[in-house]
Amino acid sequence: MKEVLRRLYKLQMVDSDIALLKKKLMDIPKKEHISDENVKTAEEVVKEIETELQKKEILREKREREVQETRMNLAKHKTQLLTAKTNREYSALLKEIGEEEESIEKAEEETITSIMEIENLSKKLEEKNKELAEIRKRETTEKENLKKMQQELEVEIKQKTAKMEEIASHLSISQLMTYERIQKGRGNAVATVKDGMCTGCNTLLPPQFVTLIRRGNKIYTCEECGRILVWHKDVE
Ligand SMILES: [Zn+2]
Repeated sequence: MKEVLRRLYKLQMVDSDIALLKKKLMDIPKKEHISDENVKTAEEVVKEIETELQKKEILREKREREVQETRMNLAKHKTQLLTAKTNREYSALLKEIGEEEESIEKAEEETITSIMEIENLSKKLEEKNKELAEIRKRETTEKENLKKMQQELEVEIKQKTAKMEEIASHLSISQLMTYERIQKGRGNAVATVKDGMCTGCNTLLPPQFVTLIRRGNKIYTCEECGRILVWHKDVE
């Protein structure tokens, strides 16, 4: 019977290992998603700056065209000033010339500001593009590693499952059913007894009961948690 208890314990160990490996395997798609999101976020940052830069360029070009037009009007009005026939016409032209000169001056100031803004944005874009390239490289490596990890986990799970089947083949149907029933309810079906306690639920067991478990002539279960109990020294 001691051998059966040892096998049940081993079954539990491998079973727990598989559960842990499966959990790791399930985490991989989440990690892949995070990796994709990191790249996407960096791409969005670049795109935002590009859009802003484009808007500023369009605005600058529009302003330049306006200034050009105003300059032409100004030249025209200055020529007309020389041939103005009435005082009224003359002062109207002067007023327009004044306004045009003012508008050109203002537009030139704005152009200086927008050139500076465009320069800053271009620098920022360059930085963010560099960052994006680094992030892409990093996340590509990360995803390759995840893929490799996934393959390794799958192999390991397969191996452990084969091991479980091998252990299970030495146990009877009723022993396996007992194991599975407890495992379903408790997560793990076997616990060791150490220092007079069930290590599954940390309940102190009666000394006579501990003696029975030490002898291991049959399968005993913990009254508190229902797990199969094995004497710790039998499986250490
Ligand atoms: Zn217990």
